[in-house]
Amino acid sequence: MATSENSQAGCLLDEGVRRYYLDTMGIQVWQSLEQQPGDMETEAPANRDVIWQQLEQAVSDCVKCELHASRTQAVFGVGNKNADLLIIGEAPGRDEDLQGEPFVGRAGQLLNAMLAAIGFQRDQVYIANILKCRPPNNRDPKPEEAEACDSWLRQQIELIQPGVILALGRIAAHKLLNTDQSLGALRGKQYNYAGIPLIVSYHPAYLLRKPVDKRKSWQDLKRIKYLLNSDGSPV
Ligand code: URA
Repeated sequence: MATSENSQAGCLLDEGVRRYYLDTMGIQVWQSLEQQPGDMETEAPANRDVIWQQLEQAVSDCVKCELHASRTQAVFGVGNKNADLLIIGEAPGRDEDLQGEPFVGRAGQLLNAMLAAIGFQRDQVYIANILKCRPPNNRDPKPEEAEACDSWLRQQIELIQPGVILALGRIAAHKLLNTDQSLGALRGKQYNYAGIPLIVSYHPAYLLRKPVDKRKSWQDLKRIKYLLNSDGSPV
């Protein structure tokens, strides 16, 4: 099952990128070699800020796939870098490409309302996408684009170390779980992504088209609430 493959992913932060950051900061390499995978929380806060800045800059400079040519800007991600809940969507749309922030259009407004229903302000969670750049005409991401973008998201997850990941929609669920099962078959269960509980639910853009499924989406949100205690940290 894809779940166990993903849980064996181990260290998510590219070692090459980590070394580059440490070199740039003038930190000797032996410090990084002493770290074990998943030890990012022991990184001094100032260093973490620099690592985030370097990562965001690398994403903004990225030319790993053809989407860089048509983007207005890369859409890195937004929110609380220590969030307990990480939300992963598909890719920036037109509004997101223009504003440089994920989920700012109509789907984003619905996402904000969904978050509020389980007691989260938008800025309390972290929101990112499988793709950092907008596919032309909002077409589905191509597998090679999702693959090219994969390490950026992996590094964000490694830095945030959320208590729960919410995959919104088919594209996010398929990429994160390495499966092609239907969304209907995937939702309603709990998965594991590199040791982090992962829940699959409907994309808010789909819910705008099919509001009757908001009822099932609410079940998914309640499952997330169950996984997180009332103050937002993992149970
Ligand atoms: N849909 C997504 O999947 N992500 C966004 O950022 C906006 C719309």
